[in-house]
Amino acid sequence: MATQEEKRHMSLVAELGCAVCRRMGHEGTPAELHHPREGTGGGRRASHMDVIPLCPEHHRGKTGIHGLGTKGFPKHWGYGEPELLEDTRAELKKLISLRIR
Ligand SMILES: [Zn+2]
Ligand SMILES: [Zn+2]
Repeated sequence: MATQEEKRHMSLVAELGCAVCRRMGHEGTPAELHHPREGTGGGRRASHMDVIPLCPEHHRGKTGIHGLGTKGFPKHWGYGEPELLEDTRAELKKLISLRIR
């Protein structure tokens, strides 16, 4: 279960829109949340604070992180989960600073 803080974080991240579409110049594509280490096994629970917003295609589609896999994805796009996570953190900071102002 996600804590209140995690839930708030996740809804903000979803508002950012797809991180892959953003890199192609399309901001605000409705996104679902991807947990970077999901499905890697090892019993390590992916943190809800490390989620990446991805549209259905870039999440589960043929050119998506699950469609291509975590090895195929960087080969196809030239960047992977660490870069997208960094983008997400930077965009989130911008979003939060805009709201405070
Ligand atoms: Zn997308
Ligand atoms: Zn996912």
